[in-house]
Amino acid sequence: MTSLQSYLAGRWTQGAGQGTALVDPTTGEVLAHASSDGLDLGAALAHGREVGGPALRAMGFAARAEALKALAGAVHAEREALIELGIANAGNTRSDAKFDVDGATATLTAYAHFAKGLPERAYLVDGEAIQLSRSPRFVGQHVRVPRRGVAVHVNAFNFPAWGMLEKAACALLAGVPVLEKPGTPTAMIAERIARVIVESGILPEGAFQFLAGGAGDLLDHVASQDCVAFTGSSGTARVLRRHAAFVERGARLNVEADSLNAIVLGADVGEGDDAFDLFVREAAREMTQKAGQKCTAVRRILVPREKVGAVREALVAALTSVVVGDPRESSTRMGPLTNESQLASVQEGIARLASVAELATGGAERLRAPGCFVAPTLLVADDPLAAPVHADEVFGPVATLLPYDGAVAQAAEIVRRGDGMLVCSVYSDDKRFPVELALELAPYTGRVYLAGEKVAEHTTGPGLVLPALVHGGPGRAGGGEELGGLRGLEFYTQRTAIQGFKALIETGFGG
Ligand code: NAP
Repeated sequence: MTSLQSYLAGRWTQGAGQGTALVDPTTGEVLAHASSDGLDLGAALAHGREVGGPALRAMGFAARAEALKALAGAVHAEREALIELGIANAGNTRSDAKFDVDGATATLTAYAHFAKGLPERAYLVDGEAIQLSRSPRFVGQHVRVPRRGVAVHVNAFNFPAWGMLEKAACALLAGVPVLEKPGTPTAMIAERIARVIVESGILPEGAFQFLAGGAGDLLDHVASQDCVAFTGSSGTARVLRRHAAFVERGARLNVEADSLNAIVLGADVGEGDDAFDLFVREAAREMTQKAGQKCTAVRRILVPREKVGAVREALVAALTSVVVGDPRESSTRMGPLTNESQLASVQEGIARLASVAELATGGAERLRAPGCFVAPTLLVADDPLAAPVHADEVFGPVATLLPYDGAVAQAAEIVRRGDGMLVCSVYSDDKRFPVELALELAPYTGRVYLAGEKVAEHTTGPGLVLPALVHGGPGRAGGGEELGGLRGLEFYTQRTAIQGFKALIETGFGG
């Protein structure tokens, strides 16, 4: 039986005891165990700060960007093995596993590209020099310098490759060493990537560390210059936010959490329109890709009341045509949920939604045993404000269709009930409706996706997180922000205002 290892303070090591079992959710077979018990995480963070940080900072932007590009190549070379692990350990279909692995390498490559043109120096210039007194001799200039701590990345189980490497790309380019802690249920994929990275020798020692198993006392060792980027449930986020590392020591914390993403059909769109077909196609895909275990998956589907019947029929047809089963079979379009605990949580969630909405297709039953299978599930609520629909995220292939009156005000009121989202999508060919609704929703969501006939052939889908655009959202979504091109480096750098003699500032810190 495989025991996953951690790479800490320059060596591969293993926690005590058996730890958590990692399973194949299609067969129930235990594939590996992961334990972090007894590992010296304080020493690991010190190693990152003292060994990895100086080495990374000495490289400069160009060399760090080259390293990211080389890492993308090394991970890509392992693509087939990683896809196989995604199928076995995460229950991903081949297409879902590719989505995770290719998303990871594409983000590394994108960050290597974003760094092009960054001047070769130890800081980033932030804005112009500002004259501070009557004399032009005394000015101020903002700069950004890498923090002297470790970027501690605590990731969710659903994107073991992409989630880990998108965070690592930003931190490493900024010049900050990383300690990656993946979600334990799918950590086999992340561990394989960690081995590729360590064995490649691309990064200097101490720049990349990896922790398999629970977080243990990791946060107790987080100090003021460290940055913790967390992705996971809002329940775990609540625990983290209260930790002394942030409350007392002032370490940075970025939270990416739950999201009740919404998708809105405009009243101008009729059956047979390109925008209607796109809406149905993208809603069904967002519900079923990775069995709905995507932070950006659609959970609430808003449709003008008179169109609910047509959309329901089209969505039920699309969802019932999705073949659910063993992800190793080529005909399968949706695999199982990641483990028994996710299955139980989704079943409870469907039951809660079914107390206020009618089941149009699917349901809470386990589709087949062994395995953590549920059917794509669509519910239809008559009351669009019914509380459970807007209260908690059912992290599976589940969404609720909600009627609205076709106007911006009511669509906005319903969507806002989700209390902060990662993405909200609007499908309309009208000139005003999408713009007005986007402005109403923007304070409540990290991204607004506008789709219609003009872009029907060119859209990326609302669920695709792109490295050039910010990812994150307010409120329930955690209030954090990641990616967004070079904006993604901000979390890992300190913005400092430098005041002094103009010539000194210009030569020492100029743009
Ligand atoms: P989770 O149970 O909250 O776990 C997330 C991570 O936190 C895991 O690595 C977990 O470790 C770790 N963790 C748990 N308790 C901890 C503690 N006390 N101290 C430090 N770390 C701790 O979430 P999940 O089930 O893995 O992921 C699903 C959730 O993530 C969903 O709610 C989804 O919406 C959200 N998500 C959000 C985004 C986004 O970008 N907003 C992206 C993906 C997923 P163990 O696994 O070892 O317990």
